[in-house]
Amino acid sequence: MNEEDEVVRYRTEGPVAVVTMHRPQYRNAQNSAMTYALDDALYRAADDDEVKVIILAGEGKHFSAGHDIGTPGRDVDTTFPRRAGLWWDHVGKPGAESRYARESEVYLGMCRRWRELPKPTIAAVQGACIAGGLMLAWCCDLVVAADDAFFADPVVRMGIPGVEYFAHPWVMGPRHAKEFLFLGERVYADRALQLGMVNRVVPRAELETATMDLAVRIAQMPRLGLALAKKAVNQAEDLMGLRAGMDSVFGLHHVAHAHNAEVGQDALGGHDARSMRDGGR
Ligand code: ZN
Repeated sequence: MNEEDEVVRYRTEGPVAVVTMHRPQYRNAQNSAMTYALDDALYRAADDDEVKVIILAGEGKHFSAGHDIGTPGRDVDTTFPRRAGLWWDHVGKPGAESRYARESEVYLGMCRRWRELPKPTIAAVQGACIAGGLMLAWCCDLVVAADDAFFADPVVRMGIPGVEYFAHPWVMGPRHAKEFLFLGERVYADRALQLGMVNRVVPRAELETATMDLAVRIAQMPRLGLALAKKAVNQAEDLMGLRAGMDSVFGLHHVAHAHNAEVGQDALGGHDARSMRDGGR
């Protein structure tokens, strides 16, 4: 089976759909093939009247090491049918035109689209949840963390002020968001719980069953009630500035990419997956 068929797996268990990222050999690094496979799976769950709650999980030791910036399957110059907005295809476009079009679609746009799913979503996070991995957990409604989970956004090392889906000040408060970004260090599950970034922490061996148990209990509520409750909190969060804040920060994010490309070798400040990992703590 080729890798594209495998990058996301889908199954249902009663009223719960489980969507699993499946590139464990690359710590579930997110390329566009995975992005669109996730979109297919999440919308399949949204469309299935039997499904009430959706779990997003990652196969293997780690939830997600972030965006794919270095595996053989990195598909940055591949065209996929766009779904998140009305931007043109980034492929073959120069400079910021390419980067802005691509990231509007596959990063900010897709995460927003998934946040708007009309059914409750729960991220089940173990091991690494780094940079782009944060976006996948943060666009879910609830986060259950295994006790070995750790969270970090080290992209300030690239000169970039945080990942594209800039939820930091809303998921942990402004002061902790600054520390999280300034240090780029790992925040472990127990600390993430204190900061309000996750709902609960469970032993690693119990992550799957604890998340399923939570999903099944939520699934006892009426579908419309859940959809409206989700929308109510999302709307309140947007009134607290999340959506407009993300739009403004997306501009700063692209100033950073453009600066890197202008003064150096590339838009990532010369970093790749290895240098980011080796510089991490
Ligand atoms: Zn970016």
